[in-house]
Amino acid sequence: MYLHRINLVRKWLEENSLEGLLVLKPENRVYLSGFTGSSGMLLVTSQSCYLFTDFRYLEQAQQEAPHLEIRQWGENPLATLKKLLDTIKVKFLSFEKKYTSFDYYNKLKKALDGKKLNPVDSPVDKLRCVKDNRELKCIQRAVTLADRALAFILPLIKVGMQELEVAAELEYYMRCHGAQRFSFDTIVASGLRSALPHGVASANRITEGNFIVIDFGAVVDGYCSDVTRTFLMGKPDKKQLSIYNLVRNAQERVLEKIRAGIAAAELDYEARKIISMAGYGENFGHSLGHGVGMEVHEEPSLSAKSEVTLEKGMVFTVEPGIYIPNWGGVRIEDMVVVTEEGCRVLTGAPKEFTVL
Ligand code: ZN
Ligand code: ZN
Repeated sequence: MYLHRINLVRKWLEENSLEGLLVLKPENRVYLSGFTGSSGMLLVTSQSCYLFTDFRYLEQAQQEAPHLEIRQWGENPLATLKKLLDTIKVKFLSFEKKYTSFDYYNKLKKALDGKKLNPVDSPVDKLRCVKDNRELKCIQRAVTLADRALAFILPLIKVGMQELEVAAELEYYMRCHGAQRFSFDTIVASGLRSALPHGVASANRITEGNFIVIDFGAVVDGYCSDVTRTFLMGKPDKKQLSIYNLVRNAQERVLEKIRAGIAAAELDYEARKIISMAGYGENFGHSLGHGVGMEVHEEPSLSAKSEVTLEKGMVFTVEPGIYIPNWGGVRIEDMVVVTEEGCRVLTGAPKEFTVL
């Protein structure tokens, strides 16, 4: 699996007539090598793939990435790199421009004096968009854990409870059932705070007659989940029902349109059209969705500006929302995987309007 991925990077090197790629982004390094230590970088060339790490991780690197040439770096990692580049006669080195700070670039330039540095969009980001079967299984486990956690805590939510307590119950359940960590800080936004698209759980107490937006996820086997459901505490009024149904309708219309070959921007447009036609276009101020995998936000992006055409195996969220200041908000978010003819929804949590 790792060799296959490395070979795809080699193919990219060859197609672009490049000598070598330095992989600095930790997730991209793990994706290509399997090495999960906290310090390391990869050098992929047409002939070989080198994993650099420090003394602390040598044994782990040999266990996790036995197929790679492992090099221990000394006090000055870039000097070790320079020496190797000289030995294997690489003069033109590409690096992942998105993940290289200005400071690090200057260090590279100084340490690799005489080499030409070539900033590139990482080909690994593209490869990571399309998930293989093993990855899909990990993602499904992470999503199912989130589904179960939500089903478990719903009966516990009561008027007067703090958002933080709801988040704690969710997180405790996920931890006890296999979450390595959480995909991001759990969002529990109730009452007027539900109008905040990213209302991280606060000491705010849940009140009667208001929405509660819960957006959260778990990391299982290195892969993230991300799900949002919106509930109502107590009896809904007409506007609350109609806004909820509008968001749900937009979300489900998008799910029906997903298939390999469609433009991501078209899906964003579809959701925006439905919400705008009902008069709430201004209240849907974020993009429709984002890729999910080893990171909770990765490619592809589902926005108006996206140039991505969907491919089978891509995993992303579909999460339209309407946020009305001083009133409240609704968001519904599922994770899906693109199939040849459509998509498979990974999220199992029900979407019916639910009163707690
Ligand atoms: Zn989310
Ligand atoms: Zn999301």
